[in-house]
Amino acid sequence: MTTIPSRARVVIIGGGIIGTSIAYHLGHLGWKDTVLIERDQLTSGTTWHAAGLMITFGSTSTTSTELRTYTRDLYANLEQETGLATGFKPVGFIELASDEGRLEEYRRVSAFNRYCGIDVQEISPSEVSALFPLAETNDVLSGFYVPTDGRVNPVDATMSMAAGARKQGVTIAQGVTVRSVNTRNGAVCSVTTDQGTIECEYVVNAAGMWARQLGEKSGVSIPLQAAEHYYLITEQMDGMDPTLPILEDPARFGYYREEVGGLMIGLFETVCAPWKVDGIPNDASFITLPPDWDRMSPYLETAMSRIPRSNETGIRTFFCGPESFTPDLQPIIGPAPEIRNYFVAAGLNSIGILSGGGLGRLVAHWIVDGDPGADVTAMHPDRLQPYQSNPEYRRTRTVESLGMVYQCHYPNRQLFSARDAKRSPLHDRLASHGAAFREASGWETPDWFAGPNQVADAGPLTWGRPSFWPQWQNEHRACREGSIVMDMSFMSKFRVKGQDAGRVLDHISGNTVDSESERITYTQWLSERGTLEADLTVTKLGDNDFLVVASDTAQRHVETHMTRHGADSRVSITDVTSAFAQINVQGPRSRELLQRITSADLSDVAFPFRTAREIDMGFARVLCTRITYVGELGYELFVPSEQAVHVYDLLTREGAHVGLVHAGLRSLASLRMEKGYRDYGHDIDNTDCPLEVGLGFALDFDKPNGFVGREALVARKALGPLTRRMVSVRLLDPQPLLHHAEIVCRDGIPVGYVRAASYGHTIGSAVGLAVISAGTEPLTATWIANGSWTIEVVDRHYEAEVSLRPFYDPSSSRVRG
Ligand SMILES: Cc1cc2nc3c(=O)[nH]c(=O)nc-3n(C[C@H](O)[C@H](O)[C@H](O)COP(=O)(O)OP(=O)(O)OC[C@H]3O[C@@H](n4cnc5c(N)ncnc54)[C@H](O)[C@@H]3O)c2cc1C
Repeated sequence: MTTIPSRARVVIIGGGIIGTSIAYHLGHLGWKDTVLIERDQLTSGTTWHAAGLMITFGSTSTTSTELRTYTRDLYANLEQETGLATGFKPVGFIELASDEGRLEEYRRVSAFNRYCGIDVQEISPSEVSALFPLAETNDVLSGFYVPTDGRVNPVDATMSMAAGARKQGVTIAQGVTVRSVNTRNGAVCSVTTDQGTIECEYVVNAAGMWARQLGEKSGVSIPLQAAEHYYLITEQMDGMDPTLPILEDPARFGYYREEVGGLMIGLFETVCAPWKVDGIPNDASFITLPPDWDRMSPYLETAMSRIPRSNETGIRTFFCGPESFTPDLQPIIGPAPEIRNYFVAAGLNSIGILSGGGLGRLVAHWIVDGDPGADVTAMHPDRLQPYQSNPEYRRTRTVESLGMVYQCHYPNRQLFSARDAKRSPLHDRLASHGAAFREASGWETPDWFAGPNQVADAGPLTWGRPSFWPQWQNEHRACREGSIVMDMSFMSKFRVKGQDAGRVLDHISGNTVDSESERITYTQWLSERGTLEADLTVTKLGDNDFLVVASDTAQRHVETHMTRHGADSRVSITDVTSAFAQINVQGPRSRELLQRITSADLSDVAFPFRTAREIDMGFARVLCTRITYVGELGYELFVPSEQAVHVYDLLTREGAHVGLVHAGLRSLASLRMEKGYRDYGHDIDNTDCPLEVGLGFALDFDKPNGFVGREALVARKALGPLTRRMVSVRLLDPQPLLHHAEIVCRDGIPVGYVRAASYGHTIGSAVGLAVISAGTEPLTATWIANGSWTIEVVDRHYEAEVSLRPFYDPSSSRVRG
């Protein structure tokens, strides 16, 4: 037991790999006034029993890949600094592909990982056998080998980081339990422990699988859930050798490595078992759970069949321990929206060891600099919603989570559990029109339509053209040539009112949003560093009255951003997401259709682009905004939820006269991609400067009172021409598809990668948005024109066109038509 101080700048709760890594990195950043509080002993939660796989291969996200490579390098070198070895052994790692889907996935991943500096080699089955002779390789198509990956001892790595943290002056107190986190004026002020109170400025909840219930005490929602997680270790086995590489075979649910002369087989079963949904016992340490042999046997048999000799060897240990999983299999890292200076670092989904070093550094920088230094849109706590903490939700979703780790990550894959959590008012109407629903932040939203009275069947998952290609193409074309109706009720909507509403919104918006009434404005919100916080529209409805509309995943981020900037102002912010359905009517015949059901004059003169006005539609009053996210003449209708069905029925009845087509998210993606419209969290993120990602046109540098982030952008401009930019890319060959993370080459040299992509049914090829770099040269249209461009898709380079302007209607004449 250590005596705890009465004051500290930062209190970290939890001495697993994550909390300890944060302590280590805060110490290195000079924040020595940090205390780590551990209830029992360091590593006594989940960390002590981890298998210690240290793998950098496998992700197509730069953030995740950088976290992994940094972690590996840290574990490799830490002993020199702390005197304590981490047990890191670079024995190598092999991922097996034994079906075509995984082969394609790993080839795509390999190309991206190589671009990120990882030495991934595709090897033949006989080379796999040479490296891991006990493996059966008859059915193997290829192996993907990273010689510099390996294994680490999770306890030793934690202890080494703890030693490093102590050297920097950080206090580590074991045998102390945090009972509550206390707040004053909406911000953290202290923690109460079983041995007294510590006044503090920041708290990091790194309490592993206890993080949810600890957060709940302070009203912070952290929807993670522990699940059973298994490995076994055989008796000594001839041929096992500590220098053997780690082998992973997701198709057979298993990973394999040497352990004290025996074989360790770890399992990721497809249907898994949540543990203690009602709450993790507060006094449980070094937990081992009774294994459920009956449930696990089929998975185990399949996994053991990869190493046939394991069937002839006795089992020394059959281990089951709990690990935390999250609703979307991404960690929960960053500031909680509920309380200022309350950070969460939990929910590691079985990769806490291999990403722990990098995550510790990221969180430490986020606290010290206010900037995580990486794209955190996929891990930010505010992407998740409070209902996901419900016991029933966690119990239902977690059954699927663990198994998702080893699924082939086909581009159309959907989570099937915990569905139907949210339905738009139009749900039943859309279902009867043959909607194939997908989940958008819990909302069941049509992806594409099979047609009236048809049951949508997406067919087998594939990297190629999905079975619903013709329907998708039809919806896309209908939008370009006629009119479509699209339910986008999942969009987040806020009514912002009050004497200071215009001033606050204008201050945080890069564009001028407080101009004349009845006007919708596309804008970004920025950090003080001039990087993106949000991408949205602000509509001025009248004096002191605004509507803010952002994407579904941005709901809590946008609300927190406004609330904090408007804290001392006369402004009220109301989330009206559920109060209004959003029905988009788009396409060259959209005006003709709407004009049939409203007495309002929708002519271009009376209702020009960017107009927002309440109009009549049958018995309903509807806020009609003339705006588009697909690049056509179009309208977004905000309809009181209870009148949504009425308006929809009018639209579809009158739509019969103009050939109205139902369209889903699939065509939204392809339409907006042809037009080069950005999507925050997909192709743009919190690390991006709006100038670099082509959003400079939406900034008003001449606003009398400036805007948050303006000075940083002015400084950026002063540095000279941009050398890194977002561009539209398309393949010249109409056949291959782009999904994400494909490498873009200029004159054969990699210069960037595709951040998001779709298929341009109008331009006739795959199309995407990529960020590319010209090194030290100005990245101009001339520089682009002087290069010869290819994109690497599964080991082949395809000729490509690259442009600073969108491929579809670059002058936007159709939008204003
Ligand atoms: C069988 C198995 C194999 C695994 N293999 C791997 C692998 O090979 N590679 C990999 O990367 N990951 C692996 N993992 C996952 C990895 O173990 C976890 O992701 C990681 O250990 C999580 O670390 P943590 O710091 O978040 O949580 P923990 O290690 O659980 O730490 C949280 C700490 O918080 C403390 N605490 C809780 N409440 C309080 C409180 N109120 N006050 C004070 N302290 C508190 C707990 O005592 C605990 O020590 C595996 C997991 C399992 C179960």
